[in-house]
Amino acid sequence: MNEKYLIKSIYGTLDEKHPGVSQTMLSSSDYISGDLESFIDSTTWKVLNYFHPQESKAIFKDRGWQTIAGFQTRNVPHFAHEYIQRICMELLDGLFIQPILGHKKIGDFTPEAVSHAYKNLMDRYYPKDKVIYSGLYTHMRYAGPKEAILHSILRRNYGCTHFVIGRDHAGVGNYYGIYEAQSLAKSYESELDIKILAFSEPFYCTVCKTIVTKNNCQHTSNPKLVTQISGTQLRDILIHNGDDSSVLFRKDLLDGFDMERLLIK
Ligand SMILES: [Zn+2]
Repeated sequence: MNEKYLIKSIYGTLDEKHPGVSQTMLSSSDYISGDLESFIDSTTWKVLNYFHPQESKAIFKDRGWQTIAGFQTRNVPHFAHEYIQRICMELLDGLFIQPILGHKKIGDFTPEAVSHAYKNLMDRYYPKDKVIYSGLYTHMRYAGPKEAILHSILRRNYGCTHFVIGRDHAGVGNYYGIYEAQSLAKSYESELDIKILAFSEPFYCTVCKTIVTKNNCQHTSNPKLVTQISGTQLRDILIHNGDDSSVLFRKDLLDGFDMERLLIK
């Protein structure tokens, strides 16, 4: 395998500062392919809230869900996530929240923090019969558009009919345009056999006093009137214990959580 060709094809860059590029460079350059066979006994993963695709499909069927939105994340939920998730709950039968709990880069939220916050969000705020939470045990590649394709296939395999792709999906730094992942996945929608729910970049608008996007608020072009809301920014707020976080994030989601274990070190 020509490693440089492989890396450039997946990540669009050979820059070793890209966490996916550096990880691939560290791994073996031997690759195998062939028919896939499922061998994980998912009962051993139950403690980590993992569902096998056969199990998620059975649960969707049991609940009578015809339309299911898959939601990928690697972050503790903030209000922009909620905004998107509530729209999914409004329009579709069910929401399948599936955070990546495998290897992530230093500075990302730990899987424990993500699980803790989602458990509280579901216990305290979301309807009991519309949401299923299940960790996804794969590592983040930070490959942006190509990873959006992979994530779409994975969720299709779990039985989702729709998949949410927001701004800079699976991106890192400034390697990808903020809507590049969305538009690539959209262009392969019929082959992927899953509908892409393309959400615009969310902001908190200080005039509308709610989460908005450029499609439903007239203030988003004025950076003085809107606050960006992203996982990166949320990490900064939580680390520096900012006072302005209440419009962006529910602090009670991390009640009882050891903040020393918030981020991967
Ligand atoms: Zn506004």
